[in-house]
Amino acid sequence: MTNNLLTPITSRTIVSDNEKALAQGNWVKFICGASNHDLPFISDLCAIYSAAGVHCIDLAADSAVVHAAREGIEWVNTRLGIKPWLMVSVSDGEDIHFRKAWFNPQKCPPACDRPCERICPAEAINKKEGVVNSRCYGCGRCLPICPVGLISEFSQLLEISKLGSLIAELKPDAVEIHTDLGRSQAFEQILQAITSSNTSLKRVAVSCGLKEKCYSIEALATELWQRHNCLRNYDQKPIWQLDGRPMSGDIGAGTSHAAIKLFREIRPLAPPGPLQLAGGTNASTFRNLPLRHKPAGIAFGGMARKLIQPWLLEAQTKKINLREWPEGWRQALSLAKELINPWLGYKT
Ligand code: SF4
Ligand code: SF4
Repeated sequence: MTNNLLTPITSRTIVSDNEKALAQGNWVKFICGASNHDLPFISDLCAIYSAAGVHCIDLAADSAVVHAAREGIEWVNTRLGIKPWLMVSVSDGEDIHFRKAWFNPQKCPPACDRPCERICPAEAINKKEGVVNSRCYGCGRCLPICPVGLISEFSQLLEISKLGSLIAELKPDAVEIHTDLGRSQAFEQILQAITSSNTSLKRVAVSCGLKEKCYSIEALATELWQRHNCLRNYDQKPIWQLDGRPMSGDIGAGTSHAAIKLFREIRPLAPPGPLQLAGGTNASTFRNLPLRHKPAGIAFGGMARKLIQPWLLEAQTKKINLREWPEGWRQALSLAKELINPWLGYKT
């Protein structure tokens, strides 16, 4: 493909400095998915959102996934000279971001009208394979919908004993730790394993929410201060990722309120460091923000992936990747830019 498809974004100033963007409230992260292992999709998704100008790409801590992501990121870097941080996600315990769905397709009653297939935003379910493991990102929407209760979930947690060597191998710019209330000890063990890799990390993102309002905002603040003290002990700088409503950004515009509400409530109580929105974020989040206070940035996940999905699938049917299909690339890039431009400070 010729470079002219990439020209439009070279004509504007790209905020490539992550720290500056965090300080100015312009920081944008693309969540490729902690459970998403569809390698050709990952390369293209990372290329699209890199070219659109995100500051960071968040992925599963997996060699093949990181390799695929780097391919897409480098493709853009060689053409535009921009390179987002590569962040890998881990968890200090059970977490819905680290699960996948499964069922045996042989057991499906022939008369079933396949609601699981219709509800899956990742088009990860088909008649032959059941759940396509590499494409499922664990959103959980198919789990309750099966009329005969055939679909189950399984966890994809990394073994802590392998974490240090994995981080040393992957050499990410940043790591994200998904944590929850009451897990400060497990958090420290994970952080210890990560720092044992001697990998220099620019930031450690701490992803936490209120778990459907099971806890008070004060309890969450107390836990974030514990994580703050722990990160200081290990000489790491945080990003506080406020998980408003996990994996729901592609459901409807209203989901954006949860992350904004969490930001408003935790802001006066939170430890120092950038507060970033996530969980339920979508194209409406920017205009729903309170005027007086701005978060340091935002992460887009399901909604950002779903936006590009039709172009990725179309490229797949053509047996090429999106980067080799000029019209598809142009359309997908335009959608990605439309989503993130308000955050970068650009007009759409
Ligand atoms: S609906 Fe969600 S959990 Fe179920 S297969 Fe699709 S991506 Fe996976
Ligand atoms: S809804 Fe249940 S029975 Fe129907 S196709 Fe999906 S898994 Fe099979």
